[in-house]
Amino acid sequence: MIRLIDIEVEHTIEEYATDTVLRDSVRTMQNAVTDDVAALDGRTVWMVNSTASGGGVAEMMPKLVGLFRALGIDAEWAVIDVDEPVFFEFTKGIHNLLHGAGDPDLVDHERSIYEATSRSVADELEDHIAPEDVLVVHDPQPLAAGSMVADALNVPAVWRCHIGSEEHSEKSRTAWEFLRPWIADYDRTVFTLPAYVPAFLETEADIIPPAIDPFSAKNRRLKPQEAATVLARADLIDTDHPVERFDQPARRLQADGTFAPATDPDDIGLLFRPTICQISRWDGLKGFVPLLRGFAELKRDVREDVDASVKTAANGGDDSTDSERSAAHRQRIEDARLLLVGPDPSSVADDPEGRQALENLEEEWLALDPEVRSDVAVVVMPPDQHDSALVINALQRCSSVVAQNSLQEGFGLTVTEAMWKRAVLMGADTGGISAQIRDGEDGRLVPDSGDPASVARTLDDVLGSPERWDDWSYSAQRHVTDTYLVFEQVTRWLDTLGELVD
Ligand code: UDP
Repeated sequence: MIRLIDIEVEHTIEEYATDTVLRDSVRTMQNAVTDDVAALDGRTVWMVNSTASGGGVAEMMPKLVGLFRALGIDAEWAVIDVDEPVFFEFTKGIHNLLHGAGDPDLVDHERSIYEATSRSVADELEDHIAPEDVLVVHDPQPLAAGSMVADALNVPAVWRCHIGSEEHSEKSRTAWEFLRPWIADYDRTVFTLPAYVPAFLETEADIIPPAIDPFSAKNRRLKPQEAATVLARADLIDTDHPVERFDQPARRLQADGTFAPATDPDDIGLLFRPTICQISRWDGLKGFVPLLRGFAELKRDVREDVDASVKTAANGGDDSTDSERSAAHRQRIEDARLLLVGPDPSSVADDPEGRQALENLEEEWLALDPEVRSDVAVVVMPPDQHDSALVINALQRCSSVVAQNSLQEGFGLTVTEAMWKRAVLMGADTGGISAQIRDGEDGRLVPDSGDPASVARTLDDVLGSPERWDDWSYSAQRHVTDTYLVFEQVTRWLDTLGELVD
């Protein structure tokens, strides 16, 4: 029922501090947490969640626990190992209700399985935890078990909700009403953004946004030749030089509906053409389709623009009066390519919604007129997690613009990752994306990400403003360095936990 996860500490605090961009953040963390570390002396901080792999929480946990330990805190990561499908169907149902979807009739049979399973998990957790320890429970799956432990042992306890929904509906209220009595046994709660805190928790909630590890495979510095090598190993660029291909490289959607090496039917041009790239799970809410339509609209618009100026020139007129775009701006749009990237289809094999989202995108792409279609590549990642992390890293570094056109977004780590790399960002004006990108300061926000015309206008503006790219990307990296690196996250956590035990 409970599995303790081994944590390999990959980097010491001093290794992080040798990086000049990180040094200040690391030292600030060390100075800020001294009292909290002292307050936690003699206690173990228990992080409890429902999975050891897959998803942002599992990815973040070893970094957080590793840094806690590096700071001298005794910390453990426990995963609830429940072999009861109904339990997870029920918690998935609660998750969907919090987002305003699904059936609000909570079936008594499922509800009682959730409670009975939580009881068994709690019994086992109680054998590990001492009354002076601190319990941090993540998301609804272990919520009830954690509340039973907190109640039985009277340990200080925090519930961390990673679900980011501003939804206020009958459905979300049903889910919160179900969770509320369990939450009541916790001393504090933690949410990603203030907008996600339900009214009944307003006075007890702390805000701790997610964060990235700047030394992870997905975010570490890559020299240009390293990035190019990763892309060549993934078949994302053509090269005559010998490279050791990944066992399963990336693949690209072809006109016959199959997936083939991403260098077919041509080199995408990642190293030399202006590339707009979005990397996300295959999910309708990630806004791939309106991004594709907006890109196609901009391409058509500029072609008409060019045709008109050719006519004007042929008639002996001055072409510059016909368009607000400079020749370089127009050329940039003409040369631009759009790269839509997501996980290998095996990741959605047992996820009907994900499969449907990928199929919808495939249909949209196949229906494009061939001229525009040749400028859009739909690419699936290598299935291996480490290879795909490196590919994400290289793609975000090589793209002219990183887009995240989500229709809704709890936080949007892809945005954080790209901002950290000093990419030029174009994100949707929603949820966590607009919390990260300050419009006109760190990049641009698409006012209405579901509307292709709004996407086209914003992209046109981004591609027409190269003189602002350096300012945006510099500011974006500063913003992430100050706010969304793991060091700031650790500081905020220790602030919450130190206060709790003090
Ligand atoms: N990601 C990935 N493979 C993919 C697409 C995305 O590993 O094919 C990563 C991405 O780099 C980011 C995370 O998955 O770290 C997605 O987090 P985000 O907050 O952007 O969205 P979520 O998927 O949690 O809705």
